[in-house]
Amino acid sequence: MKPFAYHTPIDARTAARTVASDPKAVFLAGGTNLVDHLKLGVAEPDLLVDITGLTSEEITEDDHGGLRIGAAVRNSDLAADHRVRERYPVLAQALLNGASGQLRNMATTGGNPLQRTRCVYFQDVTTPCNKRDPGSGCAALGGYTRYHAILGASEHCVATHPSDMAVALAALDAQVRVLGPDRERTIPFVALHRLPGEHPERDTVLDHGELILSIDLPPLPLAARSAYRKVRDRASYAFALVSVAAAVEMDDGVVRDARIAFGGVAHKPWRAHRAERALRGAPATDDSYRAAARAELADARPLGGLDGGNAFKVPMLTGALVSTLRELTGKEA
Ligand SMILES: Cc1cc2nc3c(=O)[nH]c(=O)nc-3n(C[C@H](O)[C@H](O)[C@H](O)COP(=O)(O)OP(=O)(O)OC[C@H]3O[C@@H](n4cnc5c(N)ncnc54)[C@H](O)[C@@H]3O)c2cc1C
Ligand code: SF4
Repeated sequence: MKPFAYHTPIDARTAARTVASDPKAVFLAGGTNLVDHLKLGVAEPDLLVDITGLTSEEITEDDHGGLRIGAAVRNSDLAADHRVRERYPVLAQALLNGASGQLRNMATTGGNPLQRTRCVYFQDVTTPCNKRDPGSGCAALGGYTRYHAILGASEHCVATHPSDMAVALAALDAQVRVLGPDRERTIPFVALHRLPGEHPERDTVLDHGELILSIDLPPLPLAARSAYRKVRDRASYAFALVSVAAAVEMDDGVVRDARIAFGGVAHKPWRAHRAERALRGAPATDDSYRAAARAELADARPLGGLDGGNAFKVPMLTGALVSTLRELTGKEA
């Protein structure tokens, strides 16, 4: 491991300024992703800026019935919060589907959405990877692609975003409050992560040195009827092959409104706007749910690969969406 310096700034603004002024400085939160990358040589910062104690560990009510989740709130505490479980069950379920109990006790609200891809080539410093080493190539193309993207990829990178929590936040219209060296701003969660395009080394739209202060959930009554479904190779302690976060409002057998996002299919949590449009006003039947999946996946571009590729994700995701909506709307096939 390359040697690095370690700082504990006095406040959040100083932390943002310290990182912004050093291109090789990074924030350290729970460390469950970053420390692995230090050991693997994937990240080689010269300075770790520990943000423990600099952002809120509280979940607070806003004036309109939404929740403000401090960036330092641990994943386990967030999943256990009764307001989250009652008003946004999809978020509690997504968190509990991620990692392990020990990891969730360390992982934070700010760090979880900023964890980096689990693409095996990204984590193996002996292979070319445009995300880790821009311009070096992409070893995944023609390699093992089981966990890779079917939507929104580019010739430079076909990686997927690994966070479960982030898929729920994308469906819930969350907002991200960030502090830079000179200003505070709010970013819609769906606009936080990028598609790879020509710059897969950039996962998000954050400027270097911008610190997440909180993630805000708007009041969203339909989210009380919401769920998260994750399909993976093992029953626990595995990343998603595909996942679905869904919330619906029903009226007399008709879907009045819906929020849908997919995980495991793109470089970012994938908000399924086309599926939502297809569902609004549709009867709560499997045919409607399959039509919604078809609408969203019309542009899917599965990859070939040494392991047979990832075309299986299209029917797998369709099945996951149908099952989730069936569960939420109480309709049988
Ligand atoms: C074995 C294993 C299995 C896992 N399985 C899953 C899984 O199934 N599903 C899942 O979703 N996750 C899984 N994870 C990932 C885990 O959820 C993340 O590692 C964790 O959420 C990251 O949070 P952290 O606070 O530890 O972040 P850190 O590791 O401290 O930081 C991660 C990144 O975020 C940046 N950062 C952190 N906080 C802030 C902030 N407030 N503002 C700006 N930048 C910040 C850091 O600089 C770093 O780049 C797994 C991890 C492991 C090790
Ligand atoms: S898919 Fe992206 S992260 Fe994986 S090797 Fe290619 S460039 Fe790197």
